[in-house]
Amino acid sequence: MDHFDQFSRPEEYISPLDKPLRAVIRNWAETEVMPVRRKFDEDWKDHTLIEPAFDKLMGQLGLQKSMFPEECGGWGLARSDSLFRIAYALCEEMGRADTGMAVACGVTFWPLLTILVEPYVNMKLAEEFAPLFCNTKEAVFAANAMTEPQGGSDIENLGLLKGKTIKTTARLDGEEWVINGHKIWPSNSGGVSKLFGVPCTTKPGSGDPDVFAFIFVPADMKGVTQGGPYEKAGMSGDKNGDVWFEEVRVPKRYRAHGPGLDAKAFYQLISFGQVASIGFLTGAMLNLYEKLYEFVSSRTYRNRLLKEDDAIAAVIGRIAGDIDICRILGHEAAMMGDRRNKPYGEPITSEAVVGKIRNIKDFVSDRAVENFGKAMDVMGVYGTDRNWDIEKHWRDIKIIQLWMGGKQLCQMESARYFFNCTTL
Ligand SMILES: Cc1cc2nc3c(=O)[nH]c(=O)nc-3n(C[C@H](O)[C@H](O)[C@H](O)COP(=O)(O)OP(=O)(O)OC[C@H]3O[C@@H](n4cnc5c(N)ncnc54)[C@H](O)[C@@H]3O)c2cc1C
Repeated sequence: MDHFDQFSRPEEYISPLDKPLRAVIRNWAETEVMPVRRKFDEDWKDHTLIEPAFDKLMGQLGLQKSMFPEECGGWGLARSDSLFRIAYALCEEMGRADTGMAVACGVTFWPLLTILVEPYVNMKLAEEFAPLFCNTKEAVFAANAMTEPQGGSDIENLGLLKGKTIKTTARLDGEEWVINGHKIWPSNSGGVSKLFGVPCTTKPGSGDPDVFAFIFVPADMKGVTQGGPYEKAGMSGDKNGDVWFEEVRVPKRYRAHGPGLDAKAFYQLISFGQVASIGFLTGAMLNLYEKLYEFVSSRTYRNRLLKEDDAIAAVIGRIAGDIDICRILGHEAAMMGDRRNKPYGEPITSEAVVGKIRNIKDFVSDRAVENFGKAMDVMGVYGTDRNWDIEKHWRDIKIIQLWMGGKQLCQMESARYFFNCTTL
């Protein structure tokens, strides 16, 4: 047990798979990522350092197979009763090392969950896409292309807007879907992804759940164009860019489920993405604690260790307290996901679960942004010194606070649930 493992977790929530999976990811993070992560920001375009670390984790250790059923060559994790808690643990371990790599890896599972998690399973598509991920030792990525130029938050706000603002269209022509549209920002775009999950509409402007379609599009189909990666404040392990779909034809069977069910299967991705985001954030905060511990235990002020100074102790005590609370909340959010479909549990697509999980993500994001700032106050210029890795996490985690609809959507979803708002 490492000393940062002492932060609280509701022990009764922990899955038996937690320990062995964390051990594998921690070992990978400490040997393949943490020693070189300081150079990732210069590697944002080429991924010469980043790619071998992905190959090791996703291809050689096989994490990219993990969600597929055993009979398709996978590990069957999408069938686990602890799916959200296992994902949370993996995201935390990866986030401790590099939240950019963590999101690129996590998002590879994201679109696939629409066809792998009960009750929305499509075994034919699982069998069809599994070899792409399971029969190779190289990292293979997928992307969930939701955001469009006119606004990503509205597309994620399925509870209120029900997909009315989606402009990417799908037209059925015989045995093929013909897709047209422009997506921006998906993780693993920028030329990385081999497979896109594309939320689109068969009737633009309609809020009927039946016209919402989630269609898989292999990246090498005619009419798919990916732009180069954007240069961001951080998170260089993840590439984001433009994706254009122009008269792209895919087989009819590439629609995840069909009218009505696609909207439900897609909506569960929102909570999944938020739980993963909380894992990235608590992981980065565990590493913050490690670095801060080292700093205040080695630097002195008036010949006394910094941590023994009242003013410093008040700040670092609050930071550690916040990490402790955030980690409990993260496990609670994951458990809400795992209680789906169970007696007394709420469906994952209910306003209650979507609103409450978004609320926890917003809360933990704020604590993370505040605490990296406070740690920099304590560390002074060393907080901005790349040698300490704090400023790297600080730039990376700010992005987590802003993605998936931003702060406002989190607040709207929470207000809608707790105050029964009808127009937000
Ligand atoms: C590293 C990274 C990874 C990403 N990964 C993905 C991905 O995998 N897939 C994907 O599709 N997208 C991805 N995104 C895009 C991201 O999810 C969107 O940027 C985000 O959802 C916000 O959408 P937008 O930028 O279009 O802003 P808009 O939706 O245009 O919102 C603009 C502003 O309005 C605010 N706003 C939104 N709704 C309301 C409201 N109801 N009331 C008041 N204010 C509101 C927003 O908070 C924001 O501040 C990623 C972005 C980054 C940076």
